[in-house]
Amino acid sequence: MDLQTIRYKLNNITDERGLSSERKYLSMSQIGDCPRGLYDQLVASIDGTARRSIGKEHQFALDKEIKAAVRERLRVVELLRAWETFEIVASFNGALDDRVRGHLDGEFEDGALLHVKPTRVETLDAIRNNPRYNIPRRHFEQVQMYLRHGEYDCARIVYIARENGDLWLSEIHADERTQDRLDEKAQNVLIAVERREPPVCICRRHSTEIPRPPRRAERILVDAAPAPKIDPRAWQKLKHVRHR
Ligand SMILES: [Zn+2]
Repeated sequence: MDLQTIRYKLNNITDERGLSSERKYLSMSQIGDCPRGLYDQLVASIDGTARRSIGKEHQFALDKEIKAAVRERLRVVELLRAWETFEIVASFNGALDDRVRGHLDGEFEDGALLHVKPTRVETLDAIRNNPRYNIPRRHFEQVQMYLRHGEYDCARIVYIARENGDLWLSEIHADERTQDRLDEKAQNVLIAVERREPPVCICRRHSTEIPRPPRRAERILVDAAPAPKIDPRAWQKLKHVRHR
């Protein structure tokens, strides 16, 4: 058996099981992302044009395995009353909307939600070493969605560092204002997807193919009225002369 065959089979099975890019719904775990990113990803999944990355699938699969291992240990020490992952569907104004879904990790004996978060060691250290440091905004927002739509008041996040297995826990409580804001954000992304009107990128990482009508219109106006045209090369020369 050659190494390439092993690698090929390993990649294939991970790809089959992962399917992280095939989710045709807005995942609560990603609610902290840029609206344009959420839109692009959802549209690509619906249209079947999402790009698959085997590295991403391996990471996704490993995170799932880490989460399962932590849940299993918490179950053995009898801290959990629910330890199977379960899916929740969002509800807006009393109506279920399965275009927004989340996957919960389990429940503690006292009714608090469990969320296991595999993370980088730097993130875990930052949370652990600075008592005034809040958990990262993305994590906070993700868990707020779980609290609202899973109907919990409190969640405990078990952070586990992928590199060295360090553990840390944070507790967060339901924050209604954040939850309202996130519900609105999710609904706006869904409306944008329905209308195929990409929201503006707020993180500067997503392509903005939005046409810029004002500039184009200006150019047309200038062309329409026979304004004196300056040859750019002549202009360059002029500037050159002036600088000298
Ligand atoms: Zn963006």
